[in-house]
Amino acid sequence: MTALKELADYVRETAMLQSVSAALEWDERTYMPPAAASYRAEQVTLLSGLIHQRKTSTVLAELLAAAEGDVVGSPPHEDDNTIVRQTRREFEKLTKVPQRLVEELTKNGMDGQQAWIEARKQRDFSMLQPYLERTILLLREKADAVGYESCVYDALLDDYEPGENTTRVAEVFSSLRDELVPLLQRVQSSDVKAPIEILRRHYPTKMQHEAGMLAADMIGFDFRRGRLDVTNHPFCTELGPHDCRITTRYDESFFSTAFFGTLHEAGHGIYEQGLRNDLYGLPPGQHVSMGIHESQSRLWENLVGRSRPFWQHFFPRLQRIFPEATEGTSAEQFFRAVNAVKPSLIRVEADEITYNLHIIIRFELEQELMNLSLDVADLPTAWNDRYEQVLGITPPHDGDGVLQDVHWSTANFGYFPTYTLGNLLAAQFFQQAEHDLGDLTQQISRGEFEPLRIWLRTQIHERGQCYTSAELVRLVTGQPLSIRPLLDGLVSKMNQVYGV
Ligand code: ZN
Repeated sequence: MTALKELADYVRETAMLQSVSAALEWDERTYMPPAAASYRAEQVTLLSGLIHQRKTSTVLAELLAAAEGDVVGSPPHEDDNTIVRQTRREFEKLTKVPQRLVEELTKNGMDGQQAWIEARKQRDFSMLQPYLERTILLLREKADAVGYESCVYDALLDDYEPGENTTRVAEVFSSLRDELVPLLQRVQSSDVKAPIEILRRHYPTKMQHEAGMLAADMIGFDFRRGRLDVTNHPFCTELGPHDCRITTRYDESFFSTAFFGTLHEAGHGIYEQGLRNDLYGLPPGQHVSMGIHESQSRLWENLVGRSRPFWQHFFPRLQRIFPEATEGTSAEQFFRAVNAVKPSLIRVEADEITYNLHIIIRFELEQELMNLSLDVADLPTAWNDRYEQVLGITPPHDGDGVLQDVHWSTANFGYFPTYTLGNLLAAQFFQQAEHDLGDLTQQISRGEFEPLRIWLRTQIHERGQCYTSAELVRLVTGQPLSIRPLLDGLVSKMNQVYGV
């Protein structure tokens, strides 16, 4: 057996342990009875420790050293080279983090998540505060251990968007904000209103589930290799090469929550299902970064699902599912309603313009928390002040404010910016797909989503981690990451919806 094959077998087995852990976490966030939480936290903590041991073991060090000999001189973006390069990268990073710290972070994150569920319900930030304080200490310790370019936040960002740095993201976000704010003002001063009230009619849960399943299936999420379930805070996870789980939540008096949530998660799922499953668990068969992952969900949710041609195709189907709620409306009205722009409190329900402002607020606050210029105790006030400044609204309570997202409770600091990076990448990829596929608009209006899905699979999914996200965006679009495609798309859509 070659050294490379031995290395690959070892890495695959570690991935198998990770998928076991993912199954337990999926269950925790969907069906697990609440009293099982503390034992589940112990189970997942144990697994995270075992996984960390395997990823930093002397056995792996030897396998890597031997396999590196096997790939000398082979092209850098080929599978074999990618397996060795990416495993080495991870090994070098993780060996710097003590196992005790990994386990403490996992345990604190699991306990923090349970505390968050209760804190959000009670609208009481103080119930979460001690977990966040501890998380920040632990993450700072981790950042010091792995090292960083210029600030602690760089180290956190690298976990989700390898190769990115805080300064560059801050520059991109600042130029984006400079263009989004005036666009938002133009929309707000328009006399034209989007008929959002049609989305607030009565949409029974059972029918919403049917509509979500239909749309997810239509765009190409494969239900023989996946499932859709209900959760508090929707997510997508894979439990194996042929087992992708997506989740959603239903609100009977608001159509968009579940429908666009499902399209979004199905977009993530289509990415997972488009990876090469013969390479499952190995870097060439894994997603590149969270930003690229998010580009896939946003593309299906916003650029397809909120487009006029999509509603031309889907509206008659929606009418059959919701004959009462859709009475007296039209495809055009749905298109305009689902693109209504209005500053609101909840990120996951925000429109395509203000969504990015929600992210920029979080990106700034989490940097301040990490560099200790903001105390956790002052976070709710800082949050509310920032919402007032940027969006002109103040949450009535912390449940709709600082407690709305799960991320910080589970120690996922550095994750939020990947959402806006995803929006930018989605628009840039979509523009290229339009160029390459020719009549993409026509295809969507006819309900033909396969050419786009295959384009995404060959251009992005099947490349796994053979390229970094920065290399991938250049390779696919010929350009570095740019804010233009997203802004041009939004300007054109606001013109269609609001005449501005
Ligand atoms: Zn997402």
